[in-house]
Amino acid sequence: SYAGAHSSSFRDFLLKAELIRAITDCGFEHPSEVQQTCIPQALLGTDVLCQAKSGLGKTAVFVLTTLNQMTVEAGECTVLVMCHTRELAYQIKNEYARFSKYLPDVKIGVFYGGTPIQKDHDIIKNKETCPNVIVATPGRLNALVRDKILSLRSVKHFVLDECDKMLDQIDMRRDVQEIFRATPTEKQVMMFSATLSQEVRPICRKFMRSPLEIFVDDETKLTLHGLQQYAIKLDEGEKNRKLNDLLDSLEFNQVIIFVKSTQRATELDKLLRECNFPSVAVHSGVSQEERIKRYKEFKEFNKRICVATDVFGRGIDIERINLAINYDLPTDADSYLHRVGRAGRFGTKGLSISFVSSTQDEDVLKEIEKRFEAKIPPYPTEGVESSSY
Ligand code: ADP
Ligand code: MG
Repeated sequence: SYAGAHSSSFRDFLLKAELIRAITDCGFEHPSEVQQTCIPQALLGTDVLCQAKSGLGKTAVFVLTTLNQMTVEAGECTVLVMCHTRELAYQIKNEYARFSKYLPDVKIGVFYGGTPIQKDHDIIKNKETCPNVIVATPGRLNALVRDKILSLRSVKHFVLDECDKMLDQIDMRRDVQEIFRATPTEKQVMMFSATLSQEVRPICRKFMRSPLEIFVDDETKLTLHGLQQYAIKLDEGEKNRKLNDLLDSLEFNQVIIFVKSTQRATELDKLLRECNFPSVAVHSGVSQEERIKRYKEFKEFNKRICVATDVFGRGIDIERINLAINYDLPTDADSYLHRVGRAGRFGTKGLSISFVSSTQDEDVLKEIEKRFEAKIPPYPTEGVESSSY
């Protein structure tokens, strides 16, 4: 199958019966390739550094293996997961909730910036609500640790999702390092991303002890087989007209449209709604509460069109997205790979269309084609068959 699933079963992993039940409820039948490779080792407490392509279930690797290993002590946090955006933290928290459905003692908490920190204090201080599993973004978590509101003395599993992103941004890396130092030496460390450059790997290894390492060194293997990719060369001023035509003619379930700035997201979203397209915008220019509300609206299929900045470029998993449009092309090949990976989750079909409007865009497009050995042909004038995406 697309996802590289063999006929093996989640039962082969000898997980707790409560987890097997939850997996069945989620409709997971067979573990994907990355799950088959990583889960058995991770269950033994081995450190894991894992690169695997978008949408093939890296989240379940750490969610299932940490839930299986943990013992719940009221008031103690034993599992700590960090990621680079607030919406992703929220999404991962929901994955923990889904898989711990039959483990009622496990309390899960999510902490991120842009919300009143006092609320986090209240949750942590109350033994009834103090989480055993914490999913967080580094800034807020570090503030809680630095102010001695939260103790990480009981952490036994330390996970970084989108680890390359977290470690190549200097501010975030500093927070991650400080948080890491507040946890015990003896623990399991796991890190995941679809992109792990040669430069970032040694940085990741500094946090680990003889990890299981899974890399995709042949970058051509990172492209998604179910995803058709096209480019459209046009002038900046033609983008709106073109987008309008595409949204009219394509039969998408849900579409994500990437732009390069908060301001452009607001403007494009407004324009789309004026043209009666049911759109929602997600970017850092709105309040955090509103951001999560919009994320939910889109995830729950109340909106079919989302205009987003790179806040949604990585990790976000929305089942019905089968079309990703780069209204503004990103400035690097890694971002492109993550963005278009929002369509075609778990080996499903998808379509991506990228606008190319400057010489810089043309250079980026060449770089993408070269790195992933993927030809990104011009979008055909007759369009594409709707059954193909
Ligand atoms: P990644 O982090 O590798 O990009 P995710 O963990 O977000 O991918 O998973 C992508 C989607 O695939 C999610 O909707 C998830 O629920 C689904 N999924 C993961 N593993 C399985 C499986 N074994 N069977 C069916 N669906 C799965
Ligand atoms: Mg992921």
